[in-house]
Amino acid sequence: MIIKPKIRMNICTTVHPKGCEKAVLNQIEAVKEMGKYQGPKNVLIIGGSSGYGLASRVSLAYGADANTINVSFESEPKGKRTGSPGWWNNLYFKRLSQETNNKHFDFNGDAFSHEMKQTVIDKIKEEFGKIDLLVYSLASGVRVNPDTKETVKSSLKTIGDDFTGQTIDIATLTTKDITISNATQQEIDDTIYVMGGEDWKFWVDALDTSNCLNEGFKTVSYTYVGGKTTDVIYRLGSIGRAKRDLEAKCDEMNKLLKSKYNGQSLISSSKAVTTKASVHIPAMAIYMSCLYETMMKHNCHESIIEHKHRLFKDCIYGDVDLYDEMGRIRVDKEELSDLIQNETIDLMYSLSLEEILNLKGGKLFLKEYYQLNGFEVDGVDYEEDIDLDELKKA
Ligand code: NAD
Repeated sequence: MIIKPKIRMNICTTVHPKGCEKAVLNQIEAVKEMGKYQGPKNVLIIGGSSGYGLASRVSLAYGADANTINVSFESEPKGKRTGSPGWWNNLYFKRLSQETNNKHFDFNGDAFSHEMKQTVIDKIKEEFGKIDLLVYSLASGVRVNPDTKETVKSSLKTIGDDFTGQTIDIATLTTKDITISNATQQEIDDTIYVMGGEDWKFWVDALDTSNCLNEGFKTVSYTYVGGKTTDVIYRLGSIGRAKRDLEAKCDEMNKLLKSKYNGQSLISSSKAVTTKASVHIPAMAIYMSCLYETMMKHNCHESIIEHKHRLFKDCIYGDVDLYDEMGRIRVDKEELSDLIQNETIDLMYSLSLEEILNLKGGKLFLKEYYQLNGFEVDGVDYEEDIDLDELKKA
């Protein structure tokens, strides 16, 4: 079959496996160029199939020669259904990383469940004994309560006033008006339950009680602080409350990890990048297009892999100190500088959508949007007849 992008309500429902392969390879090549560092030997990544989790995995596997276990929740291709990009990313990471001579394992299923935690702990004991790093990079709209089996949904809503603004309709390249309403207390609590830090702490507690943590163990998760334009929908909204909970759980875990393992629990405030999770946050598409334009103009734009490689190589396993007064690693410093924020806001409010999409930053955002699903990746023949079953076997 010839696979083309199909977009419905800003969600791309088809995936090009060859583009996913090339995109994973591009990240690997980038790390090889950026160089190695002395890092952890055995790493567990929750959410390592795409976005920041995949970039973390590539940096650690190639930059630090780490063994990795990845837990992610992805759909397998079946018949004419092309599966999810993360499913193909996992397949190609596994194949490509054979050259590292290290061990890389994948588990596909629900990281929130008790069963997945036990399965992964058994694997760690069998293969590694103990781990040195846990990267918690999960982004999900739902969490099934592992005890009651109730499905809890998160909401992207404001707290206080409603927000009315514009977002891009990717399929038609037009603007759409959006109103984000005020979250109820129940919606705020549910968002904290899904995207807060409880499950991260459950993982650390389970690994600790199973004696799977090495001396000097570290764990890191990713928050977003953002600036004036994103505040109302992000930091000051329901998702922002969840991120505050994640940050608070980090502090709680730090106490245990320091005293028991001479270890560390870390939060990195990461920059806005194009991922499956971020492109669905209303108004982010326009912000990211203008942000990329401004950061490229000032020579401080970073790709997702450059950003995560800098975090591990320079900060977590290096000596660059980017901690803020709350103990968070601020690799987002450039994005949030007054210069970058002011120029980004100027572009957002002075240009039409057509003009924004014609900026280098707008074009890059759109290209990266398609690349998430394996489209518009340079060097891939999109007219090639693809046999999904053959690719799964090969
Ligand atoms: P993403 O959608 O690309 O990746 C999410 C990962 O979570 C995938 O591997 C997916 O399979 C996995 N996942 C989802 N539900 C799961 C489940 N139930 N069990 C197991 N795995 C599951 O998202 P991302 O943007 O890379 O986000 C990762 C983290 O980085 C999130 O905490 C996000 O808030 C944070 N962050 C993102 C940005 C950004 O701009 N994208 C900025 C700052 C911080």
